[in-house]
Amino acid sequence: MSEMHEITDAPKIIVAIDGYSSSGKSTMARELAKRVGYIYIDSGAMYRAVALYALRQKLFNSDGSVNVKQLLPHLPQLTITFQKKAGDDGVQHTLLNGEDVEKDIRDMEVSSHVSQIAEIPEVRERMVTLQKEFGKNKGIVMDGRDIGTTVFPHADLKVFVYASAHERARRRWRELQLKGININFEDVLRNVEERDRIDTTRAVSPLVKAHDAIELDNGAVTHEEQMEWLMHHFQITLEKIENES
Ligand code: C5P
Repeated sequence: MSEMHEITDAPKIIVAIDGYSSSGKSTMARELAKRVGYIYIDSGAMYRAVALYALRQKLFNSDGSVNVKQLLPHLPQLTITFQKKAGDDGVQHTLLNGEDVEKDIRDMEVSSHVSQIAEIPEVRERMVTLQKEFGKNKGIVMDGRDIGTTVFPHADLKVFVYASAHERARRRWRELQLKGININFEDVLRNVEERDRIDTTRAVSPLVKAHDAIELDNGAVTHEEQMEWLMHHFQITLEKIENES
């Protein structure tokens, strides 16, 4: 109780958690936000929502590339918001133009098209504008690929999470199985590796560790250990800011 009281009275900070796909960063970010009463934003869900929109509008060419010219005029009208659903353990759902698309954006079809969407500079520009807006009052935990480098380069706490592609694919495969989605492990591994390749080599805001981010090797630690580590760094950051002010 007293710990929560201290957090409530403390200045609000920005926490940026970046890393490779399925590295467990969303789970950590969501739980941190819940524990400290911050907003949580899953920036990957936003790129997924744009990919879903493009798939529905048939804006992908037969070779898997995006028909950028046709997509661009749609961008300014797209709204992406988040809503907590009661009775669903308070889990946050992603809304695309007001429609709950949380389930659809997680499927393999979207996973195999999202990195091509996230490569488009105009898409990134629009998403980054929306993401900065979410963080304007601080008190936010956001996870993604470029949060500590581009969205919030002055974030108070930056974390970079990594784990082997095999371990990440294993986690993703289990998640999908638990959701009743039956899929070959090799396909999940290929998708994880392909997204790593596109995300790290794209021209705009590639996935890279910010020079001032602290690293977490998420392959060999339990969920409790991750959270203990993250809460510790969160507290240290708060204390540092309080001492400086
Ligand atoms: O985090 P998640 O795996 O759901 O993200 C889906 C995709 O969105 C990533 O593979 C990446 O291509 C893109 N993404 C991004 N920048 C972010 C978050 C996600 O490019 N900040």
